[in-house]
Amino acid sequence: MNTIAQRITHLHHTLPTSVQLVAVSKFHPCEELLEAYNAGQRVFGESQVQELVSKQATLPADIQWHFIGHLQTNKVKYIAPFVTLIHAIDSERLLAEVSKQALRCGRTIDCLVQVHVAQEDSKYGFPPEECRAFFARGAHQLPGVRIVGLMCMASFIEDEVQIAREFDTANQLFEEIKQQHFAHEDTFNTKSWGMSDDHPIAIAHGSTMVRIGTTIFGERTYT
Ligand SMILES: *Cc1c(COP(=O)(O)O)cnc(C)c1O
Repeated sequence: MNTIAQRITHLHHTLPTSVQLVAVSKFHPCEELLEAYNAGQRVFGESQVQELVSKQATLPADIQWHFIGHLQTNKVKYIAPFVTLIHAIDSERLLAEVSKQALRCGRTIDCLVQVHVAQEDSKYGFPPEECRAFFARGAHQLPGVRIVGLMCMASFIEDEVQIAREFDTANQLFEEIKQQHFAHEDTFNTKSWGMSDDHPIAIAHGSTMVRIGTTIFGERTYT
């Protein structure tokens, strides 16, 4: 498994067909993304707005770009014209801005609501109870946006039992919200959890979308 192309091909062959691969390419140069593209990968995840905008302008037009990290409200306008999926809606304010920018572009933008299930304190994501409340008050019902599922990150720990517990919490919450708020729609169907190290556990706990960077592209160098 030495080249990016070989690693992409390996993942395409080994991931269950029910699981979509997002190749997380942040901090990697366009040539490396193109290598993955030429091996058949079409879905890429980025977490920096400027980097995403510049890569989108350079690389093939049939790439589906996902924004995967924390998104600042004032930067939504730069990605609204082309982004395929925003993974981490972590506030009503952010969703309102995505709605506004989507309408300006004449688009509907698919989004995931980020749920905070990890042990670590993080500013980002709704704790399960707040996530329930978000849907219960209809906060997801805005024009120009479509909530297609949930996203989460597990704790950065070795304890696989705990990681499994966290994904399971997200999975149960997903089923509950689907039943209560999307029972008659099949668009609420995406569970974005699992990264390089924990994606097998994530898949065992319902994941339909994994975000894998390091396994494909190697270590990132942050400059
Ligand atoms: C960077 C990042 C990933 C990819 O992590 P790897 O461990 O390199 O696979 C996945 N999800 C999010 C939100 C990220 O920021």
